[in-house]
Amino acid sequence: MNRARYLLALGVLLLCASTLAAREWTDLTGKFKVQADFVAEEQGKIKLRTEQGKTVRVSRDRLSKKDRAYVEGRVDFQAFDDLKSFMKSNENQAEVEAALEGFLANTSVPTEEHDAAKKYIEYLDKLEANSARHDELYAQAITSLRRQDHENAILDLRRASKLNPDSMKADLAAGVFMAVAMHDFKKAEARFRIPASRGKKTGAISDQQRQADYISVINNLALLRLRQDKLNSAYALWDEIRQAKIEAPAEVVSNLLRVRSLIGYGMESPSPKYFHVSEEIAERYEELYVDLAADRGGHPYGEGTGWLFMLAADEDELEEIVGGEGTWHACEDRICMVCSGTQLVECPNSKCKKGTVRKIRYGKSYKKTAGGVVTVNTKIPYRAPCETCRGRGGVHCEYCTGGRF
Ligand SMILES: [Zn+2]
Ligand SMILES: [Zn+2]
Repeated sequence: MNRARYLLALGVLLLCASTLAAREWTDLTGKFKVQADFVAEEQGKIKLRTEQGKTVRVSRDRLSKKDRAYVEGRVDFQAFDDLKSFMKSNENQAEVEAALEGFLANTSVPTEEHDAAKKYIEYLDKLEANSARHDELYAQAITSLRRQDHENAILDLRRASKLNPDSMKADLAAGVFMAVAMHDFKKAEARFRIPASRGKKTGAISDQQRQADYISVINNLALLRLRQDKLNSAYALWDEIRQAKIEAPAEVVSNLLRVRSLIGYGMESPSPKYFHVSEEIAERYEELYVDLAADRGGHPYGEGTGWLFMLAADEDELEEIVGGEGTWHACEDRICMVCSGTQLVECPNSKCKKGTVRKIRYGKSYKKTAGGVVTVNTKIPYRAPCETCRGRGGVHCEYCTGGRF
């Protein structure tokens, strides 16, 4: 049963608890059950009154774990903060709920502490509602993507991300779609920055539940940093995985293999220069690659694999829509690094700006003087199409075919 809804139902029930039937108590073996009200703890024993009015005394350690949690909530805590630490340290849902139930039933607890507990229930319920709405919007976005309605899909994914900031799924989907399908690398980077900074703040890399998604986020962000020749900041992102001593996913290792071979390529021949790279940077990447690949014992992808953008760990539909060529939760990007798929690279003529160059022509102007009108030669600047790129602003990219490698 979903937790917050259960808790809410519980909260409503407890508001009129005194008039309701007694709760069911079970012993440690699970064999004995009794419907009874809690009366008090006396001399280390729990005193219960059954529906028939009989008094039963039982020691705490003979009660089931759930009932023991109820008693703890009922007897041991006067402040909600203390109960909350108990709830946080307990993994068992039923016991957590029993403790809360016990706490709310304790009439000696100050009203403001009861109110704090009820607020907490409301808070959990809101979280749950937001998370449900997040899932709805996400599903809606996937449907829109299938229909090629990109605008609404992105809108829904952005709303989903706001509703459930703990989840990186919506931002990952939007960012990967922007990068791999729309080739809008700037927008994609802005998208990935949101979960990256949230994740960094909340220690997502050491959080079991969010670790895989966080690694996808930093991997994708690193790839977009590379597109802008920011090798150092890409390195710093990937290095978080090494710092955290986590086994790197195959996709990350594959991307690092690619960086490493492109660095080598650029260093051996002056062109094509994929990255502006010093020997020191090359060594650092080599080391990072070796460290992260070490655990994997051989490599699952060849050097010819494109850049692998990663999706959320539980995502299995988007790859199919984006048309990824990678594994089940990665989308391969084979857009040329040099021209970003435009097939044009910057015009080699340094004077060329957007396909035009500054030129000067000479003209004549007329000036009135005391001695009459005289003719003066003047320089008139104008912009003419660049001859090198024939006015296109760029020249054909030699490093790819049709914008892809
Ligand atoms: Zn190219
Ligand atoms: Zn030009």
